[in-house]
Amino acid sequence: MSDRHFALARAEAAFIRETLGFDHLDVVERAALARHVTGGGYAGGLYDRLGGHFHPLKFLRGLARRAQAAGARLHEGSRVVAIEQGRNGVTVRAATGSVRAAAGIVACDALIGGLSPHLARAIMPVASYCIATEPLPDEQAAALLPGRAAVADSRFALDYYRLSADNRLLFSGGETYTHTPRRDVAAFVRPHMARVFPALAAARIDYAWSGLVGITPNRLPQIGRLGGALYFAHGYSGQGCLLAPFYGKAIADHLRGDSDVYERLSALPAFPGRG
Ligand SMILES: Cc1cc2nc3c(=O)[nH]c(=O)nc-3n(C[C@H](O)[C@H](O)[C@H](O)COP(=O)(O)OP(=O)(O)OC[C@H]3O[C@@H](n4cnc5c(N)ncnc54)[C@H](O)[C@@H]3O)c2cc1C
Repeated sequence: MSDRHFALARAEAAFIRETLGFDHLDVVERAALARHVTGGGYAGGLYDRLGGHFHPLKFLRGLARRAQAAGARLHEGSRVVAIEQGRNGVTVRAATGSVRAAAGIVACDALIGGLSPHLARAIMPVASYCIATEPLPDEQAAALLPGRAAVADSRFALDYYRLSADNRLLFSGGETYTHTPRRDVAAFVRPHMARVFPALAAARIDYAWSGLVGITPNRLPQIGRLGGALYFAHGYSGQGCLLAPFYGKAIADHLRGDSDVYERLSALPAFPGRG
């Protein structure tokens, strides 16, 4: 975080505390930053005392189990090729069969492909790249991130990183604006990690992966109705692990008759200057 970004972050923290009443955000000066992160040369940072990090695949599997326990039927590996709306709801067609429902939700984010050109035009796909080092000795892990915080810097194409439960450094950096992520992920991300933590310049990289994130022009997610009983929610701009379930619940509550959150979210401006 540069001096200019740190000044903006201070103002943001004051707004969040005074206007939103959230009192768990510490402004951390450069001199105190080493308690949280020892690399990066940042001018300062914001530390969220209520923040945390989790394993997204385990979270996804937990959500799937809870949905099934509540009666949901999951059809994995069924690419939807057409969605039709009729008087009695929505019909979703895949090569393997079709499903009829009173309502439908399109939640494909950046992976929507040709299913809805209208929705695809509203978000930009950005490729994000991650690597996981070999498990690090306890002392080395503690020397990088003493409090095991998850870190995201404030640059436009940001670095974000954290330690896993088994002491690997999971590091992401170097986004590209494309539908087709690069293949050389480890070689691409390593210099970003080495810039922040030179001690890891030659660390073994055990895993490397990439994926597409749906970005909106103003970085706010979009939620709404395509007409009839067909809804959509997408464009979490890199923060969908928690936002996507929250937006999904807003639509579910709306369909059950509690529209408060859905209406507040759908009233947010979809583009700068609108709304
Ligand atoms: C490398 C990487 C790192 C990230 N790191 C973070 C992070 O640290 N924190 C964070 O909050 N977020 C992070 N994100 C973003 C987060 O993963 C997304 O915001 C989130 O997954 C969006 O959830 P979603 O359910 O809307 O869409 P997705 O998770 O993208 O799921 C869309 C689903 O739709 C399916 N689909 C698409 N088309 C069809 C079709 N025609 N028929 C049937 N199914 C279809 C896809 O197969 C996919 O399963 C990261 C993303 C990537 C790629």
